[in-house]
Amino acid sequence: MTAGASVARSALVPADPREVEAADAVVSGLGLPADGIAVADPATGETVAHIPDDGVDEALAAVAAADAAGRDWATTTPRKRADVLRAWWESLVAHTEELAHLITREMGKPLAEARAEVKYGTDFVRFYAEEAVRPGGSFRDAPDGGSSILVRRAPVGLAVLITPWNFPLAMATRKIAPAIAAGCAAVVKPATATPLTTIYAVQLAVEAGVPQDLVRIVTTSSASAFSEAVLVDPRVRKVSFTGSTGVGKRLLELAAQNVLRSSMELGGNAPLLVFDDADLERAVDGTFAAKMRNGGQSCIAANRIFVQDGVADDFVAALAERFEKVKVGNGFGDGTGLGPLIDDRAVAQMRALTDDAVAKGATLRTGGGDHDGDGHFFPPTVLDHLPASADAATTEIFGPIAAVQRFSDEAEGLARANDTEFGLAGYVFTESLDRALNVADRLQTGLVGINQGVPSNAAAPFGGIKQSGMGREGSAEGLEEYQSVRFYNVARR
Ligand code: NAD
Repeated sequence: MTAGASVARSALVPADPREVEAADAVVSGLGLPADGIAVADPATGETVAHIPDDGVDEALAAVAAADAAGRDWATTTPRKRADVLRAWWESLVAHTEELAHLITREMGKPLAEARAEVKYGTDFVRFYAEEAVRPGGSFRDAPDGGSSILVRRAPVGLAVLITPWNFPLAMATRKIAPAIAAGCAAVVKPATATPLTTIYAVQLAVEAGVPQDLVRIVTTSSASAFSEAVLVDPRVRKVSFTGSTGVGKRLLELAAQNVLRSSMELGGNAPLLVFDDADLERAVDGTFAAKMRNGGQSCIAANRIFVQDGVADDFVAALAERFEKVKVGNGFGDGTGLGPLIDDRAVAQMRALTDDAVAKGATLRTGGGDHDGDGHFFPPTVLDHLPASADAATTEIFGPIAAVQRFSDEAEGLARANDTEFGLAGYVFTESLDRALNVADRLQTGLVGINQGVPSNAAAPFGGIKQSGMGREGSAEGLEEYQSVRFYNVARR
């Protein structure tokens, strides 16, 4: 048994069978095959559906079909693209309940969080419906007056979009919507653990007027065979990947062969700094959100929580109290605040990180321990006095463990926060504007949450520096990822 008390299975919130039925009604309408890759409910282990196990031939057929559809789409007007995206957004919003039920069924997060993901995921479609009519470009005179330079933005071409399992809708829409807005076709490979939401969202896209083959989904149990065949196909011009840094590096190697435009949203190891002058309630709320959103399975999850000595005892006590109140169980259960993790491996990882931390001297404030029975559950866990030598101080935790370290002054806090090869998100809690901006400037991350734990927004340029990636998603910058800049130089007399 791991550190902490065993949590009996009876403590888990059970599913409301009516919600499960509602989810299965959506699954049965997807037109999926009777066999193939099994998609399991992580709360029960039950097989929910099968999806096709596409091989290289099917993947290349999808490339051919999307490439053909993309040639026509590249010539459509910005207004046409905007109208189609708007219709898709309206349909997605109208089907919020269906989408949220699919997300909970295949990924496990509580239904309320799944609804929040639908809001977040559909925001990208609305944003790019609005942005599609602003493709950019400029006109300028050459300094010597001898010519005029007309700068245009053209669709980059066929894009391969590879998504992870943690946000099955949002990770797909924040790639597909800007691709469509820019005039590109896409081949989408969702994670095999959570393909159903993406399949449904793309079905709704076609019903809303997105041309039949413009967005093609490939599901496969052999992700490496897929990328080795597809990323070197000359019809493909772009790869956008969200997932782990190790896989991202491999995809960049493949992308190098044909010099593909590449966007990489990779792993994180976010530092969160709470200063003595923070509003403690705000800091606890923000840390709770930054850690526990999506059960901690988020690339921007607060991973290393640094608290200044003067407030550390009070902060940890308040955070542990919040964690203790979270009800763990089936995402379709009444009041569930934390669902299952995605698989057994993730639970084993949480156990190992907790055991290692406690063995090296951390204090277990709440959580730890085992859940008996089916499903991949791990309790909300708070560790205090995490030593720098603990694995949790350097690994991307990707689960519901808040690991607190203490620091004495700003310089020390910042140095430890930046002591990582990752650079996706950072957080700072302080009531001093001066300190907030100074610390934000010095954090080596692509985004910073200041006095708040959920900084993502469809209108913001999300992405990392260092080994957390390259390129941005969301906002006007996210559209540019799917555009090539070209210029015409016009001679003047
Ligand atoms: P993962 O890298 O294992 O898988 C992500 C996707 O890549 C899946 O669809 C998987 O099937 C596919 N894949 C794996 N190997 C491949 C290969 N050789 N060729 C082509 N595709 C391949 O990551 P995961 O476990 O699904 O997701 C968790 C990771 O994703 C974490 O590190 C997290 O930080 C990161 N993430 C980053 C962001 C971001 O925006 N930066 C967002 C969400 C998740």
